[in-house]
Amino acid sequence: MCRDTTQENIRVTVRPCPICDTQASTPVDRYSRDPWSVERCDDCRHVYLKNPPGYGALEENFAWQKTFRSEHERRLKESPIAYRLDVATRFRHAWFRKSTVEKYRAWFRSGNILSIGCGNTRGWFQDFTPYGIEISKELAAKADSNMSAHGGYCIFGPGAKAIWKFPAKQFDGVVMNSYLEHEEAPLTVLKGASRVLKSEGAIYVRVPNFGSVSRRAIGRKWCGFRWPDHVNYFTMADLRNIAARANLKVRLLNPLRLPFDDNINALLTHKI
Ligand SMILES: [Zn+2]
Repeated sequence: MCRDTTQENIRVTVRPCPICDTQASTPVDRYSRDPWSVERCDDCRHVYLKNPPGYGALEENFAWQKTFRSEHERRLKESPIAYRLDVATRFRHAWFRKSTVEKYRAWFRSGNILSIGCGNTRGWFQDFTPYGIEISKELAAKADSNMSAHGGYCIFGPGAKAIWKFPAKQFDGVVMNSYLEHEEAPLTVLKGASRVLKSEGAIYVRVPNFGSVSRRAIGRKWCGFRWPDHVNYFTMADLRNIAARANLKVRLLNPLRLPFDDNINALLTHKI
């Protein structure tokens, strides 16, 4: 069971392992940042934030668009060379990347697509019926207006709660792009996604790759650390483990460069 407490006027939750629900864990001090305690599960070995700030704080104080600027400045100050290289590499990869709509056509073909943590992006609406879940009230209202014009809608709220408001087997595709690392209850949202996914549908997941060479090499300066926004740090084994518990299997989209990639890109589909 989760336990609520108050820490410097921020309401936080002390939680068990988000993958296997084991309460016992060991602090990893070198990856923690006071008051945020990063810990390793004593059972499945998943590394996660033990005391996340809770959905309310995420919505009001730690929403990505608000913390991006302070994170940028902090990392530039702490590690200017490593950070500038990281930004340059991401830009180079982005330059050769396919457009969002091209990727969605390849993964989902057509139909109803649900984007969890959708923000207000809309470059892919023309070929699909767009649906969304968004924890920022302001962005959810904008997304709902834009999605309604294309036959869909957006629900305001945390993904693990809002996903249960959609009918079963409604979606050809579900998108979790840089979302699952923020979600306090990732197994609940994956079970919900499995329920709303059609039998031939697929879930796209992109999360920071905790097993990457650069995380091992540069430690707490690694770009995947963000306190307290990132609450789950997935390795490939972690992703397979949590997917299996939601009756899903994982197909890796970046298998060859995975060890050197700061992100895991994968499609999750129903187990037969
Ligand atoms: Zn565990």
